Amino acid sequence: MRNWSRHVTFSAERNESPSSVGELRRLVATSTRIHALGTGHSFNEIADTRGVHVSLRGLRDDVDVDVDNGFAWLPSGMRYGEAARILDDRGLALHNLASLGHISVGGSVATGTHGSGDRNLTLAAAVVRLEMVTAEGDLVVLSREDDPDLIAGCIVGLGALGVVTRVGVLVQPRFDVRQYVIDDVPLDSVVHGFDEVFGSAYSVSFFTPWDPSRTGQVWMKRRDSQDAMDGSRTWSGGVVATQPRHPLGGHDPVNCTEQGGVAGPWHERLPHFRLDFTPSSGDELQTEYLVDRAAAPGLLQALDAIAPRLAPLVQVSEVRSMRADDLWLSGAYGRDTVGIHFTWRKTPEVLDILPELDELLGQGDGRPHWGKLFRTRPDALAQRYPRFDDFRELADRMDPDRKFRNDFLDTLLGP
Ligand SMILES: Cc1cc2nc3c(=O)[nH]c(=O)nc-3n(C[C@H](O)[C@H](O)[C@H](O)COP(=O)(O)OP(=O)(O)OC[C@H]3O[C@@H](n4cnc5c(N)ncnc54)[C@H](O)[C@@H]3O)c2cc1C
Repeated sequence: MRNWSRHVTFSAERNESPSSVGELRRLVATSTRIHALGTGHSFNEIADTRGVHVSLRGLRDDVDVDVDNGFAWLPSGMRYGEAARILDDRGLALHNLASLGHISVGGSVATGTHGSGDRNLTLAAAVVRLEMVTAEGDLVVLSREDDPDLIAGCIVGLGALGVVTRVGVLVQPRFDVRQYVIDDVPLDSVVHGFDEVFGSAYSVSFFTPWDPSRTGQVWMKRRDSQDAMDGSRTWSGGVVATQPRHPLGGHDPVNCTEQGGVAGPWHERLPHFRLDFTPSSGDELQTEYLVDRAAAPGLLQALDAIAPRLAPLVQVSEVRSMRADDLWLSGAYGRDTVGIHFTWRKTPEVLDILPELDELLGQGDGRPHWGKLFRTRPDALAQRYPRFDDFRELADRMDPDRKFRNDFLDTLLGP
């Protein structure tokens, strides 16, 4: 069995998909090595195990709305896109989504997955309840009210603390979004007008292939009731696209969510890619650094300086913004954050540039995305995540026999 991009072959001795929480609890309690698997979209070995791979796809569980407390329980094994459709049918919405709805709720939350928007938290930071099976096989529920520090440590848990069965996420009334693409926006407009560009809509992404044109596409997602576009043909030095676009050159826009300012449900506009189509290129590797927002314009200039070496390796880069949160291992912990992402060509040379990239993007306290490729030394990670050592202690406390550990986590947290 392999991950989504098919370059990691999992080494599990067996795969299990329990059909009840009771069965899952027994499985966890009796296993010496076990690790949860979501939809396998991560680009490194974080989801691997040499023991039991447990998927929650078989748990017959539904979205359950707690109206009084303004949140909905989402099953961990469900894909975000499916949960979003169910919520929308009930007149509800999540605040944001990632670029695709194909990823599981549990896997996305465990790796700190995010979308974009100056005022939007990561998907993980909207979690207010966590239901999980611990190493002993107990079922526990943590809440923001009763266990504020513990839950902040457990939400981005990397699969190292237990198997999360459901997460309670904040919901709001459903809303419509209009998506616009602006072609040929100069990189200089983004660097020098960073706050204007990223503050221009509910969710903004800047895509660039680092080619000699030094331009890119801005994808804007505007909340229908709050901010419609004014009808001009140009914006920030670019031209408003009148035909559908794909963020990666040479790919069919049919895979992408509707653009051109046509209003539609939040879950069919906030992701870039349609749930029933292949997201992104499908033949790729990915890396992303979550950097201090204040450092982002300077870091984009530093990347521009090495653009001739990036361009042959990159299919596209994406820049997104997000609001600070308090989750110990979140890329956005403690400061407003910008994600600088690379969709690479699937070639081994990518691995050679990762240390240099880490040195460059680490300058803004850049934190590598847990689900993507990086080469950061664990001691450097401990400096960039202020609560990293607390997480190590928490992992030791919650999993003393280290049944949830894999090679990735042993390297990260110590053997
Ligand atoms: C095409 C593509 C686009 C992407 N776009 C974005 C994006 O827009 N924003 C972004 O931030 N990231 C993005 N990612 C990265 C992606 O969100 C993460 O890799 C995420 O972890 C994928 O979820 P998954 O279900 O596949 O997790 P997996 O890869 O299966 O697992 C990841 C980790 O989560 C843990 N985990 C899974 N389920 C559970 C559970 N029930 N309990 C405890 N731990 C669990 C696993 O043990 C593992 O450690 C993208 C990836 C791809 C392939």
